[in-house]
Parts: sequence; structure tokens; C-alpha cells
Amino acid sequence: MTLDTSELARQLAARRKPKQVICPVCSTEAVGLGRRKYCGDRCAKLAWWRRHRSKASEAAMDEAALQAWENDGGAGEANR
Ligand SMILES: [Zn+2]
Repeated sequence: MTLDTSELARQLAARRKPKQVICPVCSTEAVGLGRRKYCGDRCAKLAWWRRHRSKASEAAMDEAALQAWENDGGAGEANR
């Protein structure tokens, strides 16, 4: 049995189709690609901060720390 390349490509594309996810940070519905599970970069960063800082800080402090981190250039992207 043989698969020609176009058939193989079609099967791979079908397997890679986007799936609906609920962002664990803000509960927004978003389309997740691959391992992505947040609605966007902002929530991914916020979640990262919460994972690393939640033991020491309140949520409000996390927000402030995230903002300071972004202001410091940590985000590596243009502000909106
Ligand atoms: Zn979100």
C-alpha cells in the first residue's frame, strides 16, 4: 500500500486543524493552535507570572509586576 504525497499532506493538514479553547486567564473563547491555550500573548504572560509569583504576591501585585516588566522592555513587542 502506498500513499502519494498529496494524500499524506491532506491527512497532516486535517490533523493540525485548530481547536477551540477557553482561555484559563480571562475565560475568552479562542482558537488554539498546537499547544497554545491562551487567547493571546497578554494572558500567556499573565499566567506565566502567576505561576512564578503567586506564592509571594497578590493578583494585583502580579498585574503591577507584569506592567513594570512590560514597561522595562521584557515583552519584546510593540505596545498597543
Ligand atoms: Zn485570555
